[in-house]
Amino acid sequence: MTEHAPPPPPPPAPRNEDTPALPDALRDAPMSQGMAVPYITLAHRDRSDRPAWGNVDPIRLREVLERALCQICGTPLGEQVILFILPSDFRQGLTVEPGLHPACAEYSARACPLLAGRMHRYHRHPAQRLTRCADPRCHCWGWVPPRPDPARDGAPTEAWYELRLPLSEYRVITVPGTDNRPAVTGIDLKTPRLMHRIRKIRDAAQPSQRERDPLAMLLVVGVLFAGTDQ
Ligand SMILES: [Zn+2]
Ligand SMILES: [Zn+2]
Repeated sequence: MTEHAPPPPPPPAPRNEDTPALPDALRDAPMSQGMAVPYITLAHRDRSDRPAWGNVDPIRLREVLERALCQICGTPLGEQVILFILPSDFRQGLTVEPGLHPACAEYSARACPLLAGRMHRYHRHPAQRLTRCADPRCHCWGWVPPRPDPARDGAPTEAWYELRLPLSEYRVITVPGTDNRPAVTGIDLKTPRLMHRIRKIRDAAQPSQRERDPLAMLLVVGVLFAGTDQ
C-alpha cells in the first residue's frame, strides 16, 4: 500500500489560542495532533498513532448508524442531534455523516480543519493516510484504500451547514443504487421541517460554488420549508 511513500502531511492542527476545550464526552478520547480522534475515523489499535484522517472505519460507521451513536465520541445520541451537511447532501436528500452531540459538534466545528476553515480542499490522495503500524494485533494490514473519488479528492470544499434536529426525527435511510452509482446509506434530509434549524458553519472555498448552493438560498429568503424541487 503506502509503506514506502513519504509520510503524508498532517491536517492543519488548531492554533494554540483557538484550541477548543474538550467536552466531557471526549475527556478520555484518543488525541492526535492536538485533536480528539473521532470514533468513526479509521485508526490503528493505538488510535492516537497516525489515524487515517478523512478515512472512515466502515465497521464503526455501521455501528454508529445502527445504534444511533455520536460519530465523534461513540456514545448514544441524546434528545438533540447535530448534523453537518453540504449543499450536495441536501440535493441528494441524505447525508452520509452520522449525527453528533451538540457539545461534540461544537468541539468539531473548531477542531476539524475543514469545518473550522483552516483547510479548503479535501486531501488529494486520502489513501496516503493509510500507514502501517508495528502492532501485530492491529487490523491495519487489511485496510483497503478508498476508491478514488474524482468529484471529491483534492476538490475545494463546499459550504458546511449545521442542522439541529430532535432524535425522534433522526432517520437512517438507504437510497438504492443505479447503474452509475452505488447504494448509499445515511441520514434523511427530505423531511421539510428539518430545514428550519440550520446555520452556516463555513463558506465554500470558491465563490463560484456559492451560486449553486440551495441551502444559502434557504437561509437568505428565510424559507422554512424545503423539497419544492422534488
Ligand atoms: Zn496498525
Ligand atoms: Zn458525542
